[in-house]
Amino acid sequence: MKEIFVTRSSMPSLDEYIEAIRPVFESRVLTNAGAVHQQFEQELQRYLQADNIDLFVNGHMALELAIQSMNLKGEVITTPYTFASTAHAIVRSGLTPVFCDIKPDDYTIDPGKIEALITEKTSAIIPVHVYGNVCDVDAIEAIAQRYNLKVIYDAAHAFGVKYRGRSAAGYGDMAMLSFHATKAFHSIEGGALVYHDSGYRERLQALRNFGIDAPDSVSLIGTNAKMDEFRAAMGVCNLRHIDENIEKRKAAHMRYCERLEDAKGLRIPHYPAELKPNYSYYPIYIDAKAFGCSRDAVWETLKQHHIHARKYFFPALNDCSCYAPYAGRSDTPIAHDASLNILTLPLFADLTDSDVDRICDIILAL
Ligand SMILES: *Cc1c(COP(=O)(O)O)cnc(C)c1O
Repeated sequence: MKEIFVTRSSMPSLDEYIEAIRPVFESRVLTNAGAVHQQFEQELQRYLQADNIDLFVNGHMALELAIQSMNLKGEVITTPYTFASTAHAIVRSGLTPVFCDIKPDDYTIDPGKIEALITEKTSAIIPVHVYGNVCDVDAIEAIAQRYNLKVIYDAAHAFGVKYRGRSAAGYGDMAMLSFHATKAFHSIEGGALVYHDSGYRERLQALRNFGIDAPDSVSLIGTNAKMDEFRAAMGVCNLRHIDENIEKRKAAHMRYCERLEDAKGLRIPHYPAELKPNYSYYPIYIDAKAFGCSRDAVWETLKQHHIHARKYFFPALNDCSCYAPYAGRSDTPIAHDASLNILTLPLFADLTDSDVDRICDIILAL
């Protein structure tokens, strides 16, 4: 039986990629913002309608440097229902994460629970557009203005998502995108920051290159977070196919919906009408009582059939041992419940209707 993993990277043809890296072999400029890097950046800026964009070696370093470019201090409010990277970026930048619960309908941070967590030490909110569901950006913006907080969106899942006709990466002071190989759009490894205030640009570009801000001048204790030309070339190629790939993902998504919609005890996130999704994930909430089988049992049965669904996101970060020192103030029953009951089914551009049927047949037979 063919193994099906939760995701499978979309790739250009080998010929297309070779054409894209040919100039790199000729120029021998392999990294440090070469010509392909510049091309990728410009094409992304257009695609994402971004005021400003900078590329990074991966999404995680982009998020760390977003935090560091703003000189944030003290506490940052975030969600525990995310990939470890989000909270790691906060702690690794010397700040304290404060975990806020999520909404039960789309699993994004619950703005109604943010204010109670704000103290005089709070400097920012880092919400996550989890699964490509856009957060309640208006409510978050209003809170940020009232308390003078910065907002950095972890938009790692939201490449190509639009909300009210505008790129999801356009909300907040900054948004981080991940171009990891497992994401809907990728450059092998890679990431970007999208932001409105061009005043951040110099600092971000110095931070990603050891804090070197001019020849003979090192003004910041930066790191090495540059994207190289080979990754940029993969990004340029994949960007040509992204709309077509999102359409293919949509077809698989629709097939899942069709097959699973009548099953009792299975629920997918709520999609608001103004959202144009990228169909990056297919998370199902499995109500064990109504469905008659737990999330873990569904995961195990699929695995026996060589289908590797994932428990995204389990454990919730405040249930992880490394976050025990930060878990004290958090009361996040909805995130905890989601972490125990959500299963993310395989979804990628090349997933066929018969693959989806094979997966759904197993689930529906339980
Ligand atoms: C993938 C991911 C990241 C990290 O991105 P990398 O490019 O892998 O470093 C951060 N946050 C979330 C929610 C992610 O899914």
